[in-house]
Amino acid sequence: MADKEYDCIIVGAGPAGLGAGLYAARDRAKTILLEKFYPGGQINTTDRIENYPGYAKISGPDLTNLMLEQVKSFDGEVKTSAEVTKLSRREDGRIEVACDEDVYVGRVVILTPGSSYRNLGVPGEDAFRQAGAGVSYCGTCDAPFFKDKVVVSVGGGNTAVEETLHLAKYAKKVIMVHRRQEYRATQVLVEELMGKVNAADSNIELRLDATVTAIEGKDRVEQAVIKNVKTDQTETVACDGVFIFVGMVPNTGFLKGFVELTEAGFIKCDTAYLRSNVPGVFVAGDCRIGAAMQLVTAVADGVNAAMWMKQYLRDRTWWDAPLSDSLSPGQW
Ligand SMILES: Cc1cc2nc3c(=O)[nH]c(=O)nc-3n(C[C@H](O)[C@H](O)[C@H](O)COP(=O)(O)OP(=O)(O)OC[C@H]3O[C@@H](n4cnc5c(N)ncnc54)[C@H](O)[C@@H]3O)c2cc1C
Repeated sequence: MADKEYDCIIVGAGPAGLGAGLYAARDRAKTILLEKFYPGGQINTTDRIENYPGYAKISGPDLTNLMLEQVKSFDGEVKTSAEVTKLSRREDGRIEVACDEDVYVGRVVILTPGSSYRNLGVPGEDAFRQAGAGVSYCGTCDAPFFKDKVVVSVGGGNTAVEETLHLAKYAKKVIMVHRRQEYRATQVLVEELMGKVNAADSNIELRLDATVTAIEGKDRVEQAVIKNVKTDQTETVACDGVFIFVGMVPNTGFLKGFVELTEAGFIKCDTAYLRSNVPGVFVAGDCRIGAAMQLVTAVADGVNAAMWMKQYLRDRTWWDAPLSDSLSPGQW
């Protein structure tokens, strides 16, 4: 195989990419991970992970280093500062991956470029977003750190409602701020929320037609300024944290025109085998439709894609097989 020809090219070296890299490299596939910045992805920005099985508590950078060394120990290559800008499918079915001045060619590509949390864009958000300072974008990840505290949640979609309900299991009080009267979340979730809000012992308060306009404090979050968008009246509430649930932005701009994306930019794939609409191109992690947006599910996705890669390389017609006719895990 020539220098830049690989069995498996992985775009991104976050948890999904590193999970895929471990399984592909350990299976003796010639594997490279192309990473725009440095390995680890989103988990690099947190110093406390408590929901990765096997570790009571570990920092993102420590977990990244362990994963990275494991990939390398099986001869997986990792190229950092390597931004993939374009992909195309050759006539022979292999995939060309353009990265800076270089072109790599892979029998299989696994796309794992992840997503970024959408910012609220208010004063204080950036200053307090480092771990432990009180601004968070993931209730499932951080709710236990706010046991018996007061938190503000922002948003009105499914994630906002679900994460607010989760926060309320830990926090003393959750003040949920939503810029309209109506929620975008599904009816069943809204009914569950209203059931909790109207309960006698409720710890969820609503602020409708309202936005958070500033997050304030000295070394960490101490209060949030909430503005009613109809009356322009503001109120300052004392709180220990602000959880922002206003959406995710998938890092898939460079894939437009190559693979099918949803309107919001998530990569379409079948969620059993993680096949995109382009034969030989798998999808894993936070960039795909239906992603749970968790570390462990991103890693698992990467592993799944690397496992199903073998099936594709063995029998290319499998790519078009409908789910019902495809193999079950462990059947090969
Ligand atoms: C502050 C914070 C705390 C979190 N805490 C937890 C937690 O405690 N528990 C939990 O389960 N989850 C947590 N999460 C969520 C978790 O980190 C993500 O679900 C997970 O990282 C997703 O992995 P991924 O590999 O799909 O994507 P990412 O982690 O987003 O990684 C994608 C990688 O691809 C690279 N990339 C993007 N585009 C290109 C390109 N064109 N070319 C090359 N490389 C590219 C990026 O630079 C990045 O390194 C947290 C997230 C954040 C931000």
